[in-house]
Amino acid sequence: MSILVVGSVALDHVETPFGSAEEVLGGSAVFFGAAASLLTPAQIVGVIGSDYPMEKLRFLEQQGVDLSGIETAEGESFRWKGRYSYDLNERDTIWTQLGVFAHFRPRIPDAFRDARTVFLGNIDPRLQLDVLEQVRSPELIACDTMNFWIDGSREALLELLERVHILLVNDAEARQLADDPNLLRAARWIQARGPRWVVVKKGEHGAILFGPDSVFFVPGYPLEQVFDPTGAGDSFAGGFVGYLDWTGGRTDDDFRRAMVYGSALGSFAVEAFSVDRLIGLEPNEVQDRIRQFREMTVFELEVGAARDG
Ligand code: AMP
Repeated sequence: MSILVVGSVALDHVETPFGSAEEVLGGSAVFFGAAASLLTPAQIVGVIGSDYPMEKLRFLEQQGVDLSGIETAEGESFRWKGRYSYDLNERDTIWTQLGVFAHFRPRIPDAFRDARTVFLGNIDPRLQLDVLEQVRSPELIACDTMNFWIDGSREALLELLERVHILLVNDAEARQLADDPNLLRAARWIQARGPRWVVVKKGEHGAILFGPDSVFFVPGYPLEQVFDPTGAGDSFAGGFVGYLDWTGGRTDDDFRRAMVYGSALGSFAVEAFSVDRLIGLEPNEVQDRIRQFREMTVFELEVGAARDG
């Protein structure tokens, strides 16, 4: 078991009402890898500039991430600055400096081509398709996208959807993609184009799983202190896809449990800036949070059943 993840490896600048951080580790592949590797080995393919502090990424190796697919190109690394207001669900991108990411052409090392699970982070759908041409026969393919590609590369995105099993998007992206304000209809529209499973993330309000025969909802974990929401979506994906790779399970129940792992790892990510909270997280901390999700959501159908035990 192992997951191949292709995505951005970034240096983030983040401002929230509670503080700010500059030049910290970020990018979809980094958040995904940090979260998924708490459950299963991961292999990252991405690009960094010659200015990237690679030594800071090394903690991922101790956690079971293979970094040998990260190539260094001459030039500056991808940098991104985001700002949050008190409503931490709202984020403004202040600037994006693509640097070497502008010419990123994923090259999957031979040793990674047999990956059982593939996660295509948010990059140009043409590049996501190109990654699928380079892998042999993955059992599970999941992908992410964003408004920029939904608008600008719709055809390639629809071609990609035919080949993926799971699409993870936020609610606005699902509506935009399906051109339908109703989330249930939007998810069914997406499923008709390929993915059997559609995960719609709703920030602190949780996430909805649309399966072939069912709909399942997981809440966001209630935290007293949300420090930095950056990377919540990718960490959710890391927990979700990581669980499926780890267990190999593919039933409706497995996907429901995967949703809880996604929400749990997303909740850890937002407790500190960057990937700080995901570094060295102990398995029992993850398991405790999973159990709390169960306690928060289980209820008895009958009044008597609860009273009589
Ligand atoms: P999330 O909060 O899960 O949506 O992910 C935030 C991460 O995405 C940050 O660490 C950014 O470095 C990265 N990011 C922001 N914009 C882009 C982009 N256009 N392409 C790839 N990664 C991006």
